[in-house]
Amino acid sequence: MSVVGVDFGTLKTVIAVARNRGVDVVTNEVSNRATPSMVGFGPKSRYLGEAAKTQEISNLKNTVGSLKRLIGRTFADPDIQTEQQYITAPLVDVNGQVGAEINYLGNKEKFSATQLVAMYLSKIRQTAASELKLPVSDICMTVPPWFTDVQRRGLIDAAEIAGLKLLRLINDNTAAALGWGITKLDLPGPEEKPRRVAFVDIGHSSYTCSVIEFRKGELSVKSTAWDRNFGGRDFDKALVDHLAKEFKGKYKVDITTHGRAMARTIASAEKVKKVLSANQQSPVNIESLMNDIDATSMITRQEFEAMIEPLLARAHVPLEQALAQAKLTKEDIDIIEVVGAGSRIPALKERIQEFFGKPLSFTLNADEALARGSAFSCAILSPVFRVRDFSVQDIISYPIEFAWEKAPDIPDEDTSLTVFNKGNVMPSTKILTFYRKQPFDLEARYTQPEDLPGKTNPWIGRFSVKGVKADGKEDFMICKLKARVNIHGVLNVETGYYVEDQEVEEEVKDEEGDKKDPDAMETDKKDDSSKKTRKVKKQVRKGDLPIASGTASLDDSAKAILIEKESTMVMEDKLVADTEEKKNELEAYIYDLRAKLDEQYSEFASDEEKTSIKAKLEVTEDWLYDEGDDTTKGVYVAKIDEIRALAGPIVQRHFEKVDAERRAVQERAEA
Ligand code: ATP
Ligand code: MG
Repeated sequence: MSVVGVDFGTLKTVIAVARNRGVDVVTNEVSNRATPSMVGFGPKSRYLGEAAKTQEISNLKNTVGSLKRLIGRTFADPDIQTEQQYITAPLVDVNGQVGAEINYLGNKEKFSATQLVAMYLSKIRQTAASELKLPVSDICMTVPPWFTDVQRRGLIDAAEIAGLKLLRLINDNTAAALGWGITKLDLPGPEEKPRRVAFVDIGHSSYTCSVIEFRKGELSVKSTAWDRNFGGRDFDKALVDHLAKEFKGKYKVDITTHGRAMARTIASAEKVKKVLSANQQSPVNIESLMNDIDATSMITRQEFEAMIEPLLARAHVPLEQALAQAKLTKEDIDIIEVVGAGSRIPALKERIQEFFGKPLSFTLNADEALARGSAFSCAILSPVFRVRDFSVQDIISYPIEFAWEKAPDIPDEDTSLTVFNKGNVMPSTKILTFYRKQPFDLEARYTQPEDLPGKTNPWIGRFSVKGVKADGKEDFMICKLKARVNIHGVLNVETGYYVEDQEVEEEVKDEEGDKKDPDAMETDKKDDSSKKTRKVKKQVRKGDLPIASGTASLDDSAKAILIEKESTMVMEDKLVADTEEKKNELEAYIYDLRAKLDEQYSEFASDEEKTSIKAKLEVTEDWLYDEGDDTTKGVYVAKIDEIRALAGPIVQRHFEKVDAERRAVQERAEA
């Protein structure tokens, strides 16, 4: 079993694998170190990753990019209008979730964002497995810190549908920080001042800054701030807007109403942006943009910087927020590590540097640092791998409250409570106590809906506590519920139980022990009669309370259906790929045999044989370019077999001669 980290980006995804000698990036089927985060659909199969990118321009309506921006969102969310500007397939509602409507196998089909991401992750799994020559199941994957419960659950479901087991969803900068810290041998000791690093990640669509403290063997996130609509694509858009205006004046064409022209201008703008990171000017050349016009232009770095000034003017905001949340000043920050390929724009780097007033550090690989960090995280969590232990303490991004109905017989009980605050350690467990005589429900929701992305519903889940009843004396049952924001940043009420107040003998200790988890109060301490004891009132666990949870995760039956659908599609894709392979094999065999008949096979075939086989080759070749262009795998295999049967005797004679020669050489050598 392999140990894999995945940086699932808006534009591209990087896969890394932990091996005994370190972490390596996995290349895909066309030897790229990153795979476009995109899926497409065709009349015969899906196009996943590189194939989707290759087909994109000719298949815009059936291609879906920016997959990460869709997961866990609703179609009605205004954010989705923004995404539609970047996604060429029409977005639609699919059972309350956003999805895309495309043409697949000749039919109109709708797939939810969860399904689309699952398709893509299934491709990522295959890419990793074929490179590693090992099955891939356990992975860690990056996630923006601003992803909410429903987005995180969507990713976990998608991974499961793709046949992957997510060991951890790790916040982007936390992954970068783990990769940075785990290799450092000079981190401060436990009593020393920690090393404080600001990690800045600017990707294709979002920008995050986290302040993270390092000591030997551990990192702890102090703050995270973000602008979830600030990334490379916004810089591209500034260029596209400029070019659209210029082309309108110069060529009298409106690219904004023309999907293909728009897509090609966006692609060209991205290139120009990259050229301008290293040069003072860049040409623009788009052949037959529309109406047979070859569009050309020239853009200088200075012009580009003027176009992106509104973005540059916002660059300090997440940095300022991250410092404020960490209650630190610029002077407290020892190092500023910049990652994410979107950060390569010189003017942007300048703004960040100006803000901190000190040089930036680029010791991490901007494209691969997050994938590497995720692979380390996977290695730490995976039972199959031994790695230096490094503790990773993250924080909760949004405050979470629980709400419940007032118990009829407790007049002054509150009906809600914020249980997890923004900045609380994550993962984290809290025990909630209720006095009840009957089963009851509670609901978890984000306390401040206005902080959430777009119009995200603040609702997280409903938890029904069963088995609650008044005890013999008509007394309340003391119910304890264990609420946990887990390693993925997902909230659950994991267990429930009830307790009774009892007098128990307890060992007298000099110190309060176990300070590690102040929230988990129900620790079972064993008495040792040889030590000093005292009588104390304690709550003793008496029994379990079953909990029924309703959350944004897919239920098992819905998931089973999607797993089934995905595996059918995987099989269909495989059949198409195998068919194509057999077709290519037949074509190659025809050429190969034709050439050999005139060369090495020549002396072993009679003229008659040659004529008849060549005729057969010609007929088959004609067929291949005509009705045989599109048929089934079985037919290609049959054709290969037919020719092989004809050529068989000749190949055999050739082989016998070669073999006899080989033996003669061997005998001579041995004599
Ligand atoms: P996100 O993190 O937002 O989900 P991502 O991880 O896919 O997205 P990255 O790969 O970090 O994003 O960055 C991609 C962006 O970086 C693209 O917009 C790309 O055009 C931009 N980029 C890459 N190289 C350069 C360069 N040399 N100069 C400017 N921008 C660049
Ligand atoms: Mg990224």
